[in-house]
Amino acid sequence: MNVLVVGGAGYIGSHCVRQLIAAGHNPVVLDNLVFGYRAAVDKDVPFYSVNLGNESEVGKILRKEKIDIVMHFAAFAYVGESVTDPLKYYFNNVASTLHLLRCMIGSGVKKFVFSSTCATYGIPEKMPLVETMPQAPINPYGQTKLDIENALKSFAHAYGLSFAAFRYFNAAGAAEDGRIGECHNPETHLIPLVIDAAIGKRENVQVFGTDYPTPDGTCLRDYVHVDDLSRAHIAVFDKLEKPGTALFYNLGTGTPTSVLEVIQAVEKVTGKKVPYVTAPRRAGDPPALYADSTKAKTELNWEPKFTTIEPIVASAWKWHSQHPDGFKK
Ligand code: UDP
Repeated sequence: MNVLVVGGAGYIGSHCVRQLIAAGHNPVVLDNLVFGYRAAVDKDVPFYSVNLGNESEVGKILRKEKIDIVMHFAAFAYVGESVTDPLKYYFNNVASTLHLLRCMIGSGVKKFVFSSTCATYGIPEKMPLVETMPQAPINPYGQTKLDIENALKSFAHAYGLSFAAFRYFNAAGAAEDGRIGECHNPETHLIPLVIDAAIGKRENVQVFGTDYPTPDGTCLRDYVHVDDLSRAHIAVFDKLEKPGTALFYNLGTGTPTSVLEVIQAVEKVTGKKVPYVTAPRRAGDPPALYADSTKAKTELNWEPKFTTIEPIVASAWKWHSQHPDGFKK
């Protein structure tokens, strides 16, 4: 398949590009490089630095590269910023995606794989989360993803678009060869911050909340390896043949891991002590979020290779230790 990977120079997109190549597909990357890194994509992969609002250019790329499927990873994902500057999020995550979809439908490209998020569930009443549970996001970031999920349903019905929306839990880890990995600026994610604290790049890491109703008082999350996420995106291709197909899948390992357990895993993997301080709860953090991914497992034959935190952290550590400054712009 010829696959346009929108946001293919970002964290999850760049891993997906390499998994596509490994599975024998032909990825083409479109990334405006606001958050992505050119160095995250191999030189021989066709690369276009274009904004999605430029529909004539995006349409030309779809036709020139004879694209069969579009995967869309390009979105802003800072929850706090989405609260203080929601316009930025609605324009980038909703409006830009609508430009892309209009372009696709106009060009007759009708298969779409979308990065959604467990943030669309808001603060769930029950755990683990299954796809049919109510979606009630508590911040504009989650809302923008849910808005696109809903638009996709209408587009499947009206235009015969076939799509799969994957609701990720906590994407983590890095390529097993250490070539690419997580590089955000600013970094807000737990694992890279804990690694930075372990190697003295930051003074300490703050543990946001120690009084949650969880076994050790810190938040439980479901860390899922970025290459496992990528493999699910490819496994769904066969399901998109029938026009109008609408699919939603949770992607997580189902293993809840606390903030303190992440810190312990980093200590074990790096052999270094992690300096940490306790801090108040971060606004909007649910106590626990973990997935029931039975649907992806049964329908897509998807089985995460990484099921526990230590090997995930070990892959992240390999990337961080080989690239202490991440990707240089
Ligand atoms: N967290 C923390 N200190 C940090 C960053 C994150 O204690 O400096 C906690 C956060 O409260 C959450 C978990 O680590 O419970 C994962 O946070 P992250 O931002 O990595 O992902 P999120 O779950 O928000 O998508």
